[in-house]
Amino acid sequence: MSDCLFCKIVQKEVPSEIIYEDDQVIAFKDISPVAPVHVLIVPKKHIPDLTSVEPEDANLMGHIVMTAKNLAIKLGVDESGFRLINNCKQHGGQVIYHIHFHLIGGRQLSNKC
Ligand code: AMP
Ligand code: ZN
Repeated sequence: MSDCLFCKIVQKEVPSEIIYEDDQVIAFKDISPVAPVHVLIVPKKHIPDLTSVEPEDANLMGHIVMTAKNLAIKLGVDESGFRLINNCKQHGGQVIYHIHFHLIGGRQLSNKC
């Protein structure tokens, strides 16, 4: 975890463009955006990937979904629509092993895989 980039962003040891933060989550702009809106929603708790989520994390996962909804409104993509994506492990294309959700929108997105 001490070696985890997103833990370092949570701790403000690595700078990021934070657009939302509360006691449970942080959301910041993806450094390499694929669309006009590309935000990462990250729990402050270090959970490596989706397969590591436990029942005790259920409220946190719900909070992430509510945060995604509220950020979609804030970023003006709630009417046009967006994607909320989790990449899990190798076949999912996960690069950073601290669970996170991509909120992507602001243009028409095409292929789903
Ligand atoms: P993935 O693990 O495949 O879901 O994607 C990790 C995402 O983190 C990629 O979209 C990267 O562009 C993004 N990323 C990597 N480093 C940073 C950083 N320092 N600040 C913001 N986003 C980052
Ligand atoms: Zn971490």
